[in-house]
Amino acid sequence: MAAPRKALPDIDPQRCTGCGWCIGVCPPHVLSLQTQTPTGFGPKRSTLHDAPGCTGCALCAVRCPFDAIQMVKIIKL
Ligand code: SF4
Ligand code: SF4
Repeated sequence: MAAPRKALPDIDPQRCTGCGWCIGVCPPHVLSLQTQTPTGFGPKRSTLHDAPGCTGCALCAVRCPFDAIQMVKIIKL
């Protein structure tokens, strides 16, 4: 079983350019480019579409050339 993850990526849509680098390096493929509006219009930004599938490896945050991803520690309740 995988070790429990310690952090999740927080993606800043203001900094994200939609370049897609983070999506390419994410091992479990839980990131995708999606529009940020319910209507589907507007620029696509990186989105964590499957948070439970994220391992917290931080490869996406390391790869992002625009510093748009911060790893945020998971606080256990
Ligand atoms: S690498 Fe950074 S700028 Fe590029 S899509 Fe991912 S979060 Fe956005
Ligand atoms: S932390 Fe790792 S598993 Fe989670 S979204 Fe980023 S690259 Fe993917």
